[in-house]
Amino acid sequence: MTTPPAPFLDEIIATLGADSVVGDDPVVVRPRSTAEVAAVVRSCRDHGVAIVPRGGDTGLSGGTDLPVDRSAIVLSLDRLDLIESVDPDRWTITAQAGVTIQALQEAATGVDRKFAPDWGARGTATIGGAIATDAGGNNVVRYGNLRDNVMGIEVVLADGRIWDGRRALRKDSSGYDLKQLFIGAEGTLGVVTSAVLRLVPATPYTQSALAAITGLDALMPLLALAHEQAPAVLTAFELMPDVAIERVCSRYAVTHPMPNRAEHHLLVTLASSEPVTDMLTAFLHAGSRAGLITDAAVAATAEQESSLWFFRDEIPPPRAYPDHHAVGLKLDTAVPIDRISEFVQRVGALAATLTPGAHCYGFGHVGDGNIHMMVLPTDDGAVDDFLERKPVLQRAVDALVFELDGTLSAEHGLGTLLRDRVEPQKPPVEWDLMRTLKAALDPADLCNPGKMLPPVQS
Ligand SMILES: Cc1cc2nc3c(=O)[nH]c(=O)nc-3n(C[C@H](O)[C@H](O)[C@H](O)COP(=O)(O)OP(=O)(O)OC[C@H]3O[C@@H](n4cnc5c(N)ncnc54)[C@H](O)[C@@H]3O)c2cc1C
Repeated sequence: MTTPPAPFLDEIIATLGADSVVGDDPVVVRPRSTAEVAAVVRSCRDHGVAIVPRGGDTGLSGGTDLPVDRSAIVLSLDRLDLIESVDPDRWTITAQAGVTIQALQEAATGVDRKFAPDWGARGTATIGGAIATDAGGNNVVRYGNLRDNVMGIEVVLADGRIWDGRRALRKDSSGYDLKQLFIGAEGTLGVVTSAVLRLVPATPYTQSALAAITGLDALMPLLALAHEQAPAVLTAFELMPDVAIERVCSRYAVTHPMPNRAEHHLLVTLASSEPVTDMLTAFLHAGSRAGLITDAAVAATAEQESSLWFFRDEIPPPRAYPDHHAVGLKLDTAVPIDRISEFVQRVGALAATLTPGAHCYGFGHVGDGNIHMMVLPTDDGAVDDFLERKPVLQRAVDALVFELDGTLSAEHGLGTLLRDRVEPQKPPVEWDLMRTLKAALDPADLCNPGKMLPPVQS
C-alpha cells in the first residue's frame, strides 16, 4: 500500500480534526457521524484514495486487508457506536454501524425482545461488518442470516452521497430492494453507516442439550426429528466433533461435558416463550429410540447452558488453535443439507491422503447446511510440509464443493481469501452482472478494491 498523498491527509484533518486520523501504515480514519463518513469518502474520491471499511476486524476472509498497489485508508466505524432507537412496538432497533452484536442483543433483551443473530465473536463484531458479510451464526436455522434480519440501511455511496433507506416496513414492493445489494457486498459498493434491524419475540425459556450421535449419517434424520418434536422452536443445531471439544478441554483444563463420548456430538437449542423441557426430552428420546443418539447431557441451569455454549464458541480454529490456525485450510462451506455427511467424509478422506498427519475436523451450523471444515498442522515441525501440500488439497476440496453444488462462503464472505477460487461456482453471466453493478456504483473502484469479485481473466 502507498501512503495517501499529504494534501488528502491535510483535507481530512481540516474536516475531522487531528484526533480522527491515527497511524501512518496504514492510515486509519475514524469519523464520528454519517456526515463525516460522507466527507471522508468525498475526499477519497477527489484524491483517488481507496477506502477499506473496518468494523470489529473479526472477519475471517481477509476483507480488511489493504490493497498493495495503491494508496488507501482504513475507514474505521468504531466511533459510530450509537444505538439510535429501540422500538418494541415496531419490533425494530436502529443502530449505527459500529455497534457490536452483543450490545444489540442486550438492548433488545432490555425491552423484552430478541435480536436473533449470534456467534462467538459477538462482543467485537459490529453490525456494519455483519451486514457487509451477510453474517450467519448459531441461530440461522430459525432466524436466517443477517439478510433476513435487516429492514433498512443507510449507506454512504462511492460518490459521497448518503442514501438513507432506513425504513421499518415488513412489506414494500415498490421497486428494487436496493438494501440487499449492499448486504453481503463486503464494502465494495459503499459504506454502511446505520441500519434498522428486526426484533423477534423474546425466548425466556431456552434449553440446550449436547447429544453423542452415532455418526454423520444421523444428522439429517435428527434434524427432521427435531423439527417434528419441537416445531418452530429449534434455534440451534450445531455439529461439535469430539476432537475439537477435546482440544478446548486441554487448552482450558476443563472436564469434557459428555461422560460417554462419541466421535461426533450435536448441540441442540430450543427456545420459546413457554417451557421447552418436554420437547427437548421428547426429541432426545426419539433420537435414542431411532438408534441415532447414544447419550446426552441436558443443561438444567443457565450456568450449564452457557458452559455447553462455551465449548461451541471455543472450537473455531482462531480460539482452539491460536498458534497454527493461520496456515490451515479453513472452509466456510455450505452444501445442500442432505450432502453434509458426504461432504465431511470426503474432505476427511482427501485430507488423509493429501496432507497426512494434519488435523481435520468439521464443525458448525449443520442445521442450515453450513459446515466449517478445518485442516491444519498441530505442531511447528509440521508447518512447512503442510504448506507445501496445502494447495493440492485446497484445489481438490474446492472442486468437491462445486461438484456438490455448494458454496465456498456461506457466511464469512469472499474477501481476498476466496476471491481467486470462487469463479467456477457461478456462471459467467452472474459475475458479469456483479461487475456491472460494481462499475455503475463505484466506477473509480474506490470501495474495498480487490475484494470479493474474481479478477477478470485476460
Ligand atoms: C471466533 C469467531 C467466530 C466467528 N463465528 C462466526 C459465525 O458463526 N458466523 C459468521 O457469520 N461469522 C463468524 N465470524 C466472522 C465474523 O465475526 C463476521 O464476519 C463479522 O460479521 C465481521 O464483523 P466485523 O465488524 O468484525 O467486520 P470486519 O472484520 O471489520 O469487516 C468484515 C468485512 O466487512 C467490511 N465492512 C466492515 N464494516 C463495514 C461497513 N460499515 N460498511 C461496509 N463494509 C464494512 C470490511 O471491509 C470487510 O470486508 C467469527 C469470527 C470469529 C473471530
